[in-house]
Amino acid sequence: MNLAIFDIDGTLVRSDAHEDRLYWQALETVLGVERETFDWTSFRHVTDNAIAHDVFRRQNGTAPSADALAATERHFAEIWREALAGMPAHEVEVPGAGTWVRELMAHEGWRVAIATGGWRRSATAKLTAAGIDATVLPMACANDALSREEIVTIARRRAEDTHGVDGFERVVYVGDGVWDVRACASLEMPLVGMAVTAEVRARLTALGVSHVLDDYRDAAAVLVALETADVPG
Ligand SMILES: [Mg+2]
Repeated sequence: MNLAIFDIDGTLVRSDAHEDRLYWQALETVLGVERETFDWTSFRHVTDNAIAHDVFRRQNGTAPSADALAATERHFAEIWREALAGMPAHEVEVPGAGTWVRELMAHEGWRVAIATGGWRRSATAKLTAAGIDATVLPMACANDALSREEIVTIARRRAEDTHGVDGFERVVYVGDGVWDVRACASLEMPLVGMAVTAEVRARLTALGVSHVLDDYRDAAAVLVALETADVPG
């Protein structure tokens, strides 16, 4: 039995056009911080929780309370749900993602899990909008751990528990971020790159990702990528 662990943003869902704007809207509204301009990769942990924490501490000199972070997560999910309600499904999902993930869930040789640096509530809203039932999938997110490596490891463990196995023969991550490449290299986990833009494709290829796909429309090709992808680097 094999396991495919999926990132969400830029991998299953085309959230890139709205993510930055809505994230800052939530931080400004609830945490009262000012918007900053930065390179996402400059943070030690690129997750919703860790970035909100770091930005608040940088601007206020103290860490935000757990309640304030929880309120920020709730507001972020709310404004994401509003944005998603006005978007047709084909604009939400990476082409073919919903159908393909449902097919993989029914495949006898594969199981599916989710590992995202996003908060749980917004992650669930995005998956639902892409036609993926988040309630039946083992998932780990920014609420579970700070680092991407830990989040991926927790998702893997939850998938083992869910399916009552001691381990999977092959575990592959599907992601689009530089941090996904780093996490997979450190965990020695094969990675299939997902590139919704030429820029992402170039970045992943330069980092030594063996298989980079544009979407899920060629179901057979995606399965071959899962079966043959290498550990990046
Ligand atoms: Mg991503």
